[in-house]
Amino acid sequence: MKSLTLQQVQDFLRSLTSDYDVQAPIALPDGTRVLGRLDEGPLAIPGGRVDSKPTSPFFPQLDRIFAYRRGSIAMQQPVEKPLLVVGLTAEDADALTFIDEFFAAEYRDDVYFNKRDRSAVIVVSGRCGKDGGFLKIAGGDCDLEFVCDGERYVLVPYTEAGKRLAHRAPEGDEVSSIADLQAESDALPDDDRQVLERASRLLQEDRVPEEFWAEIADRCIACTACNLLCPTCTCFEVFDWTRGEQIERYRLWDSCQLAGFMREASGHNPMGEEHVRTRRRIHHKLAADRTRWGRISCSLCGRCDDVCPSGIGIKAVTREIVRRFGIEKENGPET
Ligand code: SF4
Ligand code: SF4
Repeated sequence: MKSLTLQQVQDFLRSLTSDYDVQAPIALPDGTRVLGRLDEGPLAIPGGRVDSKPTSPFFPQLDRIFAYRRGSIAMQQPVEKPLLVVGLTAEDADALTFIDEFFAAEYRDDVYFNKRDRSAVIVVSGRCGKDGGFLKIAGGDCDLEFVCDGERYVLVPYTEAGKRLAHRAPEGDEVSSIADLQAESDALPDDDRQVLERASRLLQEDRVPEEFWAEIADRCIACTACNLLCPTCTCFEVFDWTRGEQIERYRLWDSCQLAGFMREASGHNPMGEEHVRTRRRIHHKLAADRTRWGRISCSLCGRCDDVCPSGIGIKAVTREIVRRFGIEKENGPET
């Protein structure tokens, strides 16, 4: 496997812009790291998860579905240049596998796959997290992984597309194994995962009362930041925009924390109360999606906990659920 310096990685990504629409972590003037094109800011590969929705290259906040003009419809077409999305974490890559499945099930969502088809994804992991922290190794769920040993990035391909990319990378040092880095990754604590699993079971067993959700909802200010950053939140609304003789239909991210999220044209709103919406935000990912898709749809990326001004991100709420409802169980052991 090739091992490249950070400078070589950056030069390599720039060399790929002739064939790919490369989106990678860039630094904004205030230091925020987001996914962006390489001419939008300096590359900022080390630093861990980006402060933007990592699945947005395939599911952007605002996306035109079609344009209608004088009896003819122009549907959105597949992107001309394949996307190369760089800098996802292992958790983000896991989230991407979920939304791939979501957008392909039953009805295949062309607007999503116009971008996702032919794309390639590179995860960045190892000793290059925020403040030098270790980022879990994905070991798959992507085409190529840059595993940092603290100084250099080892290129680990998982798919044919990943192998082709690695082949195009400059010659660097050769590394035969990342066993030591893998051992470091395997030793990372998984307390949050255990709490998530336990809270999921409690929700599936219907052991969390409505009063709890009312209490949590009291703290929500409906800023929607949790949904807007979450890599597995897929809700959107649709609206039409008239521009002269042309009507354009767009979809726009929605948030289940907003009062109008499910409001119907009649005025009836099945989620009109805040505690119902707050319950849904958590229950949907931990229980409903587990029933529907066979998996929890939270990858524990940590964004909602970091951004929530009220301290009710999913890790915080699941810890609270387990603390309050996971101890005593009539005639049975602790959940
Ligand atoms: S940690 Fe929060 S933002 Fe991240 S996947 Fe889970 S619910 Fe979404
Ligand atoms: S980030 Fe926190 S306060 Fe804002 S909508 Fe989400 S749960 Fe509510």
